[in-house]
Amino acid sequence: MTAPAIEGWFTTGPDPTLTGERCTTCTTVYFPPTIAASGFCRNPACSGEEFERVQLSRRGRVWSYTDAQYQPPKPYSAPEPFEPFALAAVELPEGIVVLGQVARGYGVGDLKVGAEAELVVEPEAVGDKLIWKWLPLGSGHVTELGEEADQ
Ligand SMILES: [Zn+2]
Repeated sequence: MTAPAIEGWFTTGPDPTLTGERCTTCTTVYFPPTIAASGFCRNPACSGEEFERVQLSRRGRVWSYTDAQYQPPKPYSAPEPFEPFALAAVELPEGIVVLGQVARGYGVGDLKVGAEAELVVEPEAVGDKLIWKWLPLGSGHVTELGEEADQ
């Protein structure tokens, strides 16, 4: 059985979701779900100290993206030698932007600011743990993993 790379940050299965935390006072949503442990809301206008776990929307819109040309920090793992891959920052209806790798087989050529992306869960490039990724929607272009962009 394949386990999530980080327990409690996302669910697995056919319709995976990221797990966030929502301030019960001002309803601000946070991801990753580490705000409750800090004990206070990061909204400077809010004195809330109680948070509830919420499942975040599975679809959002691409806010920004990049080719990762350097070794990413945890929780991302990359093969050695390092191969560039695409990272997408996707804005969810909850008003937060969540960074993630782009789903296997997709690259920066499949991404467009404002286009829809959907959360998927795939094995990491290294090891057998699962990590969340962003699947570009409405793109017919598929590149092989690791294939160089044609420029
Ligand atoms: Zn708050």
